[in-house]
Amino acid sequence: MSRQYNFSSGPAALPEAVLQQAQAELLEWNGARASVMEISHRGKEFIALAEEAERDLRELLAVPSNYKVLFLQGGATQHFAQIPLNFAQRGQRADYVLTGDWSEKAAKEAKPYVDVRIAASSAATHYDRIPPRAEWDLDPSAAYVHVTPNETIRGVEFHDIPDVGGVPLIGDVSSTILSRPLDVSKYGLLYAGAQKNIGPSGLVVVIVRDDLLERCPKDIPKILNYAEHAAQGSMLNTPNTWGWYLAGLVFKWVKAQGGVAAMAERNRAKAEWLYDYIDGSGYYKNPVERSARSWMNVPFTLPREELDAPFLKEAEKAGLLALKGHRTVGGMRASIYNAMPLEGVQALVDFMKDFARRNG
Ligand code: PMP
Repeated sequence: MSRQYNFSSGPAALPEAVLQQAQAELLEWNGARASVMEISHRGKEFIALAEEAERDLRELLAVPSNYKVLFLQGGATQHFAQIPLNFAQRGQRADYVLTGDWSEKAAKEAKPYVDVRIAASSAATHYDRIPPRAEWDLDPSAAYVHVTPNETIRGVEFHDIPDVGGVPLIGDVSSTILSRPLDVSKYGLLYAGAQKNIGPSGLVVVIVRDDLLERCPKDIPKILNYAEHAAQGSMLNTPNTWGWYLAGLVFKWVKAQGGVAAMAERNRAKAEWLYDYIDGSGYYKNPVERSARSWMNVPFTLPREELDAPFLKEAEKAGLLALKGHRTVGGMRASIYNAMPLEGVQALVDFMKDFARRNG
């Protein structure tokens, strides 16, 4: 067995206990005499599994009863376009707050379907902060306001949910969901690709307030219509049953860890351990303003670019995987989602100290 500490940004490490359970019941699930991947999504066994997963997620995030929880597909990227298609009328404006590469992409993909306004952006400072709320130029008649509460590439996270008045707030929580408590009631819609804190890629969780579903137009393809998915319990067509099953196991695991409040305590401790070391090292650097630093994705640079390759090679040898930064920004990035234990972060810091000492 050679599993190691995996700092991949996504698909990311899953809790080992979840993988072990999935392995143990891979061939035959729950007395079905078949794998969970091989049974009908409309059978009572799978429906029970699906309902239980939804119940657990609702409990973990205290999702109010006037919200639907959907288990969809298409990656978060599909929803960049699907959101304006469903919630904006032609010619209507929507406000986007740009805090990194993913919010930029969300705005770009929305453009064919809504008049995108950039209400605030930190592009001018290379996305090293969150523009202060007081400086946002919001349009009270906008269809919605879109934010990315955690930017996976540059490691920028909102630590408070901004108040945007009566306009529905939409959040791409792909890389922060389940890492800390989340006040769902502040949002009109939340969406998350699963492959960081929920399960395997190919599954997208959407949490949407009922009144927004009334906006979904009838003249778009059903498969892109959130109201249709909600009316069919996310079974308009064959869902990602394997992803749904694994997500259910992860929800149980998070509950067993003490829920999202307990996860938050651990995640804060992990992030502090790493940032404190980086800041005090005089060797490594993280460019993000302290108040906006992510608990989930920690990018850092070495003093000279030519040290990157040996750092990565030696880290791999030391059992610390996937620390290479995103290709668009370079440097390193440690993604420390829920499944990464504090010991993994401590092992990383120990390695970083040793590397700095040898390559000072
Ligand atoms: N939003 C964020 C914040 C992400 O981190 C990612 C993927 N890393 C995406 C959207 C795109 O997700 P997908 O690849 O599932 O479309």
